[in-house]
Amino acid sequence: MPKIHPTAIIEEGVTIGDGTSVWDSVHIRHGATIGEECIVGEKSYIAYDVKIGNRVKINAMVYICAAVTIEDGVMISASTTFTNDRFPRATTPDLQQLRSSEPDEHTLPTLVREGATIGAGCTIGNDLTIGRWAMIGMGSLVTKSVPDFHLAVGSPARSIGAVCRCGEMIHKFGEDPASIIECRCGLRYTVDGHAVTELENNRRPGTA
Ligand SMILES: [Zn+2]
Repeated sequence: MPKIHPTAIIEEGVTIGDGTSVWDSVHIRHGATIGEECIVGEKSYIAYDVKIGNRVKINAMVYICAAVTIEDGVMISASTTFTNDRFPRATTPDLQQLRSSEPDEHTLPTLVREGATIGAGCTIGNDLTIGRWAMIGMGSLVTKSVPDFHLAVGSPARSIGAVCRCGEMIHKFGEDPASIIECRCGLRYTVDGHAVTELENNRRPGTA
């Protein structure tokens, strides 16, 4: 059974998996799906039809808009905001009508792949993917896709190195153009330019 704080608002048609905790004043809109053993921190907002995998950690005051998909094992730190509208206007051009907040053809998707981490206070653009096990530094503005295992920081965010599944930075881009790198934790990767690939034996069952 999930554990839901009595002040949380869970709309109709929401699915929440076993072992997931939803803390105070969280609002989860209709049709959203949240997997097992997740944590949704206080005062976070999850829009309609958002899909969230298993063992995802969402800190306090995180805003997740429609058209966002979050895979297993992702961490989203406090006060991070997702966006999905390339043409954000409140009204029609004559100011006479509020524009609908329902998703339309300008609502662009964002995908956060498994194991990725988004630091505190980030803003995440749309029509992009944050790759597997990538890490976004605190306070970053993400405007384009971030490849697997990249550490990206800044405003706009740019990739400065490679991170291990364990979170350790293992390589600074610009040094040693192609090499095999072993993290302190024992996992191994090849880095060729900005392409980071993990070696097959990193995917042992029961690890990661
Ligand atoms: Zn490691």
